Amino acid sequence: MSKNNNCPLCGSASIRIFLTRRKVPVHQNLLIRDRERATKIARGDLELAVCEKCGFIFNQGFRLSELRYGEEYDNTQTHSPFFAEYISNLIDYLIFEKKVQNCRVLEVGCGKGLFLRKMVEIEDAGNSGYGFDPSYNGPEVELEGRLQFAKRYYGPDCAGISADVVICRHVIEHVPDPMGLLHSIRQALINSPQARVFVETPCVGWILRKRVIWDFFYEHCSYFTAGSLTTAFAASGFHVEDARHLFGGQYLWLEAKVSNLKPAVIRTPASIPQLATRYARLENDMKTCWQIKLKKLAGKGKIAIWGAGAKGVTFANLIDPACEWIDCVVDLNPQKQGCYLPGTGHPIVNYQDLGKRGVTTTILMNPNYHAEIKLLLQKSKFKINLFTGSQEL
Ligand SMILES: [Zn+2]
Repeated sequence: MSKNNNCPLCGSASIRIFLTRRKVPVHQNLLIRDRERATKIARGDLELAVCEKCGFIFNQGFRLSELRYGEEYDNTQTHSPFFAEYISNLIDYLIFEKKVQNCRVLEVGCGKGLFLRKMVEIEDAGNSGYGFDPSYNGPEVELEGRLQFAKRYYGPDCAGISADVVICRHVIEHVPDPMGLLHSIRQALINSPQARVFVETPCVGWILRKRVIWDFFYEHCSYFTAGSLTTAFAASGFHVEDARHLFGGQYLWLEAKVSNLKPAVIRTPASIPQLATRYARLENDMKTCWQIKLKKLAGKGKIAIWGAGAKGVTFANLIDPACEWIDCVVDLNPQKQGCYLPGTGHPIVNYQDLGKRGVTTTILMNPNYHAEIKLLLQKSKFKINLFTGSQEL
């Protein structure tokens, strides 16, 4: 595949690579039970480019063929009570505020189907669901036929499946051609002119402003702001009704309707190109600061990081690739416990193992989980210092 020399979103040639990381693990969320295999995982380059015209950020070095979203792929986050509550609130919002009731709900990239199942399980809401995901692995029909799944992509060949609502959460950032995905959804909705679309994806403005070095990784090849996501939807035949932030500012949430008008597309890079430049200038200093900090903390006792998802994997690979300072990584997902971190091979453990491993410091990858983890540690009576990773150094 040749490199994309134009912005995949607006087509502009005004793109500039601002950050390069060579040989990063292509996968962050694989279950790997063998340490050596974890260290020998496939690697690729991160060559992040920013479009000066629309503010879209993408990995110009991305090769889709490197990725395998098969049965070993697991990014389940609902083992965290905080995250489970976030999902539950989002579903309540859709059903009660947005009146997603008696609707045919399609989910593009439904993963294991947890979100869609919850949307359909609330019986009073009267919804039926149809989930699409090539990595789906489970029964094709559930809840007396009200819930169906297809192990494939959703696209124009699905135009015969009517939809009132389309949900697409945490998918578009994995797609190197987001316009292709949106055109494909728009074509599939040709017979559903009333359809509403709800999309969730990380906000790159939050990553750049907070300088979250572990939020740029290979699985995510497309990074949006509210402006660039709106540009993409408007140009794909949707009318954007709302685009705002959720999850403490980390996520973007966009609501759109099918439109038959051809709107004038306004590209708004805002300050993203400048923020990208500033971020890139500081990344090496931030890495060095973390390494100095870990070295100092390691002198006092063992260190764990909390969260073996993409953030934890990226942090460990950037800061401690040779396993010098971090003893282990905690994750509440029992499927991940006993596995090894892709790229570095750090062991993934249950938090109850921290005491016997002699861990004295835990670094938290996502500040949203601070209260929940503090409580877990207090209940288990572990005397462990808890650092929030994103705190200013
Ligand atoms: Zn662009």
